[in-house]
Amino acid sequence: MGFILLLLILKYPNKFFPFSVLPMEDEMIEIKEQYREGPICPYCEQELRSIYLHRIRSILGKRFIYFCPHCRKVLGLSHRKGFWMG
Ligand SMILES: [Zn+2]
Repeated sequence: MGFILLLLILKYPNKFFPFSVLPMEDEMIEIKEQYREGPICPYCEQELRSIYLHRIRSILGKRFIYFCPHCRKVLGLSHRKGFWMG
């Protein structure tokens, strides 16, 4: 019985603690996949249907730099995965 109550508290914390800071499931922002419209470059404001990539090599492994094909401004860098995974 105590175990079931614990599961219920973990699943619906706001029902048991109404002043909890945890958001309800329907209050959270949902991520949706969609492909009709592409993302917009934050610099030149053109739609991105592709992204250019350059490999960066170092003794610690490979990283990637992503940039806009229209204005060539940098959109992001890949994170270093470490020596063995690089
Ligand atoms: Zn751009």
